[in-house]
Amino acid sequence: MSHTVLIVNEATLQKMKDHYGVPAKLPAGAVFAAKVDGCSVTGYRSGKVLFQGKEAQTESAKWEGQAAASKPKKASPPSGQLPAGFANMSVAGSDEVGTGDFFGPITVVAAYVEADRIPELAALGVRDSKDMKDPEIVSVAKKLLRTIPYSLLVLRNEKYNDLQESGMSQGKIKAILHNQALGKLQDKMAPEKPEAVLVDQFAEKSIYYRHLKGQKRIIEENVFFSTKGESIHLAVAAASILARYAFLKEMDTLSEKAGFTIPKGAGPKVDEAAARLIRTYDESVLRHFTKLHFANTEKARRIVRGL
Ligand code: MG
Repeated sequence: MSHTVLIVNEATLQKMKDHYGVPAKLPAGAVFAAKVDGCSVTGYRSGKVLFQGKEAQTESAKWEGQAAASKPKKASPPSGQLPAGFANMSVAGSDEVGTGDFFGPITVVAAYVEADRIPELAALGVRDSKDMKDPEIVSVAKKLLRTIPYSLLVLRNEKYNDLQESGMSQGKIKAILHNQALGKLQDKMAPEKPEAVLVDQFAEKSIYYRHLKGQKRIIEENVFFSTKGESIHLAVAAASILARYAFLKEMDTLSEKAGFTIPKGAGPKVDEAAARLIRTYDESVLRHFTKLHFANTEKARRIVRGL
């Protein structure tokens, strides 16, 4: 008796199940089984489909094209391994700002830099924002806003605190924001597509995608992860500058509301500023101004109590 085996992906397996149907009794590990003219067909959860009988070849041939067409995508290379010439490719990059700052939101930007615009952006002054002072960031960002496609997300403190208190880790919050920003950017750019996506890495690739489980749309085509992404492609440098610019504007707004300059970071100045807010208004305003779960909240309380 001849037999043929096909390996299919989940979608094809489901299609075949719909086609052949499920009998009252299934062999162990099987998801469907049927007898057709001169052939019995059994599909297993693993994606293996077994055709047995003199018509095995003929019957399996009906699915061969589909099985081949829907083979699982090639796995992307592990993070850290970028294609040769990456710096000169057309890339969508993403970066975030504000995750370590007690005051202010998290801002995430995804930005697209086409290969042939790299020299123009370098001339605009786009480079690693860690080496740039705020006034330079503001001036370069203002030019960038008019120059390249980008998508900005601002997660303000109330929402951040809600998510954090619901049990969401900061890593998960960041992953969701990067993924959303990249999705929005791709919508803006469509039908044009980046050659590659570079996420300024804050988590291992496997963890990043674990955080995204359950999201309606997950960007995973040609996505690469690298720490110090700003120095690897100008798209991440541009995203970083725009995210910092958005963060600075939000901090200006918070300073206006507070009536004094709100400091960045998470050091002693920040504790003093939070204490000042508590004294001037009420502790409840911290929910609007800060990431409440930081240790700074307790430090500010102690300052107010004179401890
Ligand atoms: Mg970063």
